[in-house]
Amino acid sequence: MVSKHVKVKVDELKAGSAVLKNLEISLGRILEEYWEEPVGPTPQPEMTDLREWDKKLLEKYRPLYMPFCDVCCLCTMGKCDLTKNKRGACGLDMSAQQSRIVLLACCIGAATHTAHARHLLEHLLDRYGRRHVLDVGGVNIEVEAPITRLVYGIRPRTLGDLEDVLDYVEKEITALISATHTGQEGNNMDFESKVFHAGMIDHLAMEVADIAQISAFNFPKADPEPRFAELGFGSVDASKPVILVIGHNVPPAIEITRYLKENGLEGKVELCGLCCTAHDASRHTHNAKIVGPLSWQLRFIRSGVPDVIVVDEQCIRADTLIEAGKVKTPVIATNGKNCQGLPDRTMDDPEEVARTLIEGGVGALILDPVKVGEVAVKTALGLAPRRERFKVMPDVEEVVREAKKCRQCNECMRACPNNLNIPKAMVEAAAGKLEGLAGLLDYCIGCARCDSACPERISIHTYMAKASEKALKEERFKIRVGRGAIQDVEIRNVGSPIVLGEIPGVVAFVGCSNYAEGGREVAEMAEEFAKRKYIVVASGCAAMSMAMTRDEEGKTIYERYPGDFDAGGVVNVGSCVSNAHIAGAAIKIASIFAKRKLRANYEEIADYIHNRVGAVGVAWGAMSQKAAAIASGFWRLGIPVIVGPHGFKYRRMLLGDKDLKGHWEVYDARTGKKVYAGPTPEHLFYAAESKEEVLPLIAKLCMRPNDTTKGRAIKLTHYIDLYKRTYGRIPEDIHLFVRTEADIPITMKDEIKSFLEEKGWVETEIPDPTLLPRLIRRRVE
Ligand code: SF4
Ligand code: SF4
Ligand code: SF4
Repeated sequence: MVSKHVKVKVDELKAGSAVLKNLEISLGRILEEYWEEPVGPTPQPEMTDLREWDKKLLEKYRPLYMPFCDVCCLCTMGKCDLTKNKRGACGLDMSAQQSRIVLLACCIGAATHTAHARHLLEHLLDRYGRRHVLDVGGVNIEVEAPITRLVYGIRPRTLGDLEDVLDYVEKEITALISATHTGQEGNNMDFESKVFHAGMIDHLAMEVADIAQISAFNFPKADPEPRFAELGFGSVDASKPVILVIGHNVPPAIEITRYLKENGLEGKVELCGLCCTAHDASRHTHNAKIVGPLSWQLRFIRSGVPDVIVVDEQCIRADTLIEAGKVKTPVIATNGKNCQGLPDRTMDDPEEVARTLIEGGVGALILDPVKVGEVAVKTALGLAPRRERFKVMPDVEEVVREAKKCRQCNECMRACPNNLNIPKAMVEAAAGKLEGLAGLLDYCIGCARCDSACPERISIHTYMAKASEKALKEERFKIRVGRGAIQDVEIRNVGSPIVLGEIPGVVAFVGCSNYAEGGREVAEMAEEFAKRKYIVVASGCAAMSMAMTRDEEGKTIYERYPGDFDAGGVVNVGSCVSNAHIAGAAIKIASIFAKRKLRANYEEIADYIHNRVGAVGVAWGAMSQKAAAIASGFWRLGIPVIVGPHGFKYRRMLLGDKDLKGHWEVYDARTGKKVYAGPTPEHLFYAAESKEEVLPLIAKLCMRPNDTTKGRAIKLTHYIDLYKRTYGRIPEDIHLFVRTEADIPITMKDEIKSFLEEKGWVETEIPDPTLLPRLIRRRVE
């Protein structure tokens, strides 16, 4: 037993003539050793401890740089032109600079999840105490925190145990950021190794945040069939007072629901949300509605429907106060990371703060979630009757009148990240036809760059929303609320078919809504793989986008497919921090199904996952630095990630070269012999241009060296089928994935055999694959 930071709390202490009330003494904390599993080789790894593992991956998957910016201006010796092999004044070259920027992005992402986890945990410790027991799935989950066990090396039992984990995470992030300072790291591959470290740390922080909130707020606990929540613009009942919550840190939203309940107001006030706070509020209460992903922010604020907007942190528009001000909606900021310039009213009487907001105050900063609950509800109740006239979009006459001002300068289209043809739609709108404007909204990410660019100050995004008003009001979908972790029994059931390749893969749709062609593509991709009996997993904005398409019977993907982690299941794990359960499921396959030691045994588990678990992450609308950090956490586990067209702006890909045979050799753990295992998986990070390109790529990246012949034949069937659908022929590289004749799908035997002959194909062995010499059981002399 180790003693550190013991905290003693005494409500009242009488001694002699003195009475002490609310005495709190902090001496340290007691950490108890509960876990018998021996500590593995890398407990709490520092940034170089897994460098050799990273090198193995980076030798296979070399960075291909796509400089988004070819100068560096990070210090005052610059700016330095790094083009044509030039070096900056500090000696840095272009490749190191690109990797450094990726590292910075990942550190920002990891720091954001970590600060969120810390803030959330402090609130929960305050409310529920250090000894509140972690429970993410009752008796169905024995491995409650796979990443924490794997990386940090403890089995956390209580909320208090998580504090130490965050201490470690914060130390590592500080060290990583310091490596980006001028005159520190100069080697691109070492930067890349640090990128992986930042990703691993990020996953740890996400796990801490989610297991803490699941336990304390009683979110669904690994339930394969959690209840449904309503999603969509039209699901919000605008006839009631409406509170909109935006962001990622849910305690203020929880306190709003608590206040509503305690005051008999449930059902009388509408609570709705955007982004991950919406996911988490819906995990907490059936009364919370989800408006939509990040890109729905502006259209919903401008609709005037919310009577009060409560923002916490992350992915919130910086101009929320300005936009809300245009429709007279007050904003309550609740988080020190996002004060919006508002006066701090944390210490003021909630009644008084609500009165100020009702009387026309633009907003308030309130850092106490309990007070936020009271102020938000009172403000919404007081303001709703006064704001009736703001709860409408502009009328059609206004749209036509304003469209007539358009001078066809094309500035809006040039500014639009999706190159939408707004000028054409404006010509039509000026003639009274709004269909063109309405059609653009499906492809719009709600950035409002068009509005900013327009010299006539036409409120383009608002008019697009007006043109789509009917469709928006009918936007009502069902989404299964975030279930959190995957049960141990589910892992036991699918472990074998996944590792043998008979379940062809796990495809995780994650990330933001920065789509080039609209969110419908995510729904279509998810459906394609669910139909083919892959396991489809989703989180964050992607999980919402998947729900926003219905079939002819009006059902969403969540209503048509089961929610269990099994072939053909569509699993919504929850908000961004719930991504930890996706990595956690892969880790649990190695530990629960394959019985590999988990504790502080990162390399071995990652080696197992990389060679055997056919998982692929798809972040089709990846936008944020958090998305970069999440992706890099998957990379270190050897799991490939694909991003959509805007993902090119992450500056580099990690690509395998399928023609370099030596790159694809693995050890056969049975003999120690090096065996060519084919380019499986071929890439670690790939930015794709279109849905058509990505479908066969997903199927291809699910192949692993360990696939049995039956498993490989199933995976090849999907790859070839999807490839043919896009390109109209069998893939040119099919010979690299066929190891023995038994790998060839029966229905395609003749066609593939003649192709293999043309390529001079020869049979290869199927190894018991590993990249780690220490895992070889018997060596060949
Ligand atoms: S950090 Fe190096 S490359 Fe960047 S501006 Fe300074 S001297 Fe130039
Ligand atoms: S708001 Fe929509 S239409 Fe306007 S620039 Fe952004 S993506 Fe393009
Ligand atoms: S920027 Fe404004 S004026 Fe120019 S084409 Fe676009 S809508 Fe018309």
